[in-house]
Amino acid sequence: MSNPRFVAVSNRLPVKLTRAPDGALISEPGAGGLVSALAPVLRNRGGLWVGWPGLERDDELDCTLAEAGRKAGYILKPVDLEPGDADLFYNGFSNQVIWPLFHDLSSLCRFSPVVWEAYRRANRSFAEVVAGCCSGVDFIWVHDYHLMGVAEELRRLGVTTPVGFFLHIPFPPLDMFLRLPWRAQVLRSLLAYDLVGFQTLRDRRNFLYCLKRLMPDVKTRGAGSVLNVSHEGGEVRIGSFPIGIDHKAIDARARKPDIKEGAERLRESLGARLMILGVDRLDYTKGIPEKLEAYRRALEKYPELREETVLVQIAVPSRQEAQGYRELATQIEQLVCEINEQFARPGWEPIRYIARNHDLVELLQHYRAADMALVTPIKDGMNLVAKEYCAAQVDEHGVLILSEFAGASSQMHRWALTVNPHDQDGIADAIHNAITMTAGDRRNRMRHLRTGVRTYDIYHWVDGFLRAATQKTLTDYPAWEDYVPAIECEPTLG
Ligand code: UDP
Repeated sequence: MSNPRFVAVSNRLPVKLTRAPDGALISEPGAGGLVSALAPVLRNRGGLWVGWPGLERDDELDCTLAEAGRKAGYILKPVDLEPGDADLFYNGFSNQVIWPLFHDLSSLCRFSPVVWEAYRRANRSFAEVVAGCCSGVDFIWVHDYHLMGVAEELRRLGVTTPVGFFLHIPFPPLDMFLRLPWRAQVLRSLLAYDLVGFQTLRDRRNFLYCLKRLMPDVKTRGAGSVLNVSHEGGEVRIGSFPIGIDHKAIDARARKPDIKEGAERLRESLGARLMILGVDRLDYTKGIPEKLEAYRRALEKYPELREETVLVQIAVPSRQEAQGYRELATQIEQLVCEINEQFARPGWEPIRYIARNHDLVELLQHYRAADMALVTPIKDGMNLVAKEYCAAQVDEHGVLILSEFAGASSQMHRWALTVNPHDQDGIADAIHNAITMTAGDRRNRMRHLRTGVRTYDIYHWVDGFLRAATQKTLTDYPAWEDYVPAIECEPTLG
């Protein structure tokens, strides 16, 4: 297959733009799951990334982006949004309606027609920029929940280039999705794509249930991980493509002496105690308070863990301007203080809490040092931290404790210790299990996890998605597990 040159479209451009004290614009490569996932692919294949720069457009911005694009190895194309719309579309509809709803937290949704209208206008603005730069391009790949309506707008503008969409977050079950006042419009806009990809079979199944319930004329054909859905004369392919990471790059970097030495220093700083690691964005979906309570429970239930373990919890500030996030940060800080006060002994504090972003070197030092990673989101599309931890575990001594509600669990459940993030006793037992497990068992589990992460990496994901987009008969995306737990399937009645 020839590699199609493509346009990637996402809410934010993959650069962080800030002003220096003298007012000059500075750009740094962006961080986060999507950038980590797509940047190496665009660099290797060449292409264009369309997104919102986060600032108003002027000549200085254009020059800075041109320079950042040269450094990144692909063109960066900015979208202009009205200042008011940027807030309503991003903070309003995307992050206060879709984000909580799709993570099954409908009580946190702030439904309002004003934010929905802003979402539609913003999606139109993205489509206009894409339409202006897609000649000679044979595939447009739109990313994530901010931009579900772009294909519909592109079709209105007369663009016939195939357009794919990948949802990085979960797709909710029917009873959750039904609460969305614009549920039919959102489903219809997704059907305007040629290919819609989900992280897991669970998400795809949820989407298909919603389609069947809300659009009874929809017909589904085929079997396997990529299905065909026909609707009003059009045909859409619907697949499950669990995203991977750049295993080779992480593994190679984690073997370098600076990472090994940094990991050793970290362990020494913990007094050679067992290190339990949490790495999460400061977001209510990540289940950080629940994790702290579970660690408290572990210390109560297994007193032998006291003075022998330290939970190092990295929390990356995010969406600080959005309502509820500051309260969450305060709640976590208070809980850390409370648990530390409850258990601390001279020379030992059970929790080391670090609320700041870490660069790759620091992260890899933590991943390599940790005896276990506690990845316990309430709900997560995939969770790249779970995979990065395994890729960096070059000594194969660590254990992955993983929430059943992280997309990663659909692939990693067999060799991780899976837990219900709401079950404090279950997590406490998993921590205890990880510590008492034989070195051979730990190595065996980690080796299997590393093989999966290596085989089903980011390049496999991109190839699989693009192959499904171009080969209309393809039904199977070779996948590492990807299953829907039997407990979630509908019981047969009667
Ligand atoms: N990350 C980072 N610095 C940090 C913590 C995390 O760059 O201090 C990165 C991490 O390497 C991973 C991403 O942020 O690639 C988090 O992705 P994940 O899928 O776990 O969660 P998300 O934040 O996208 O919901």
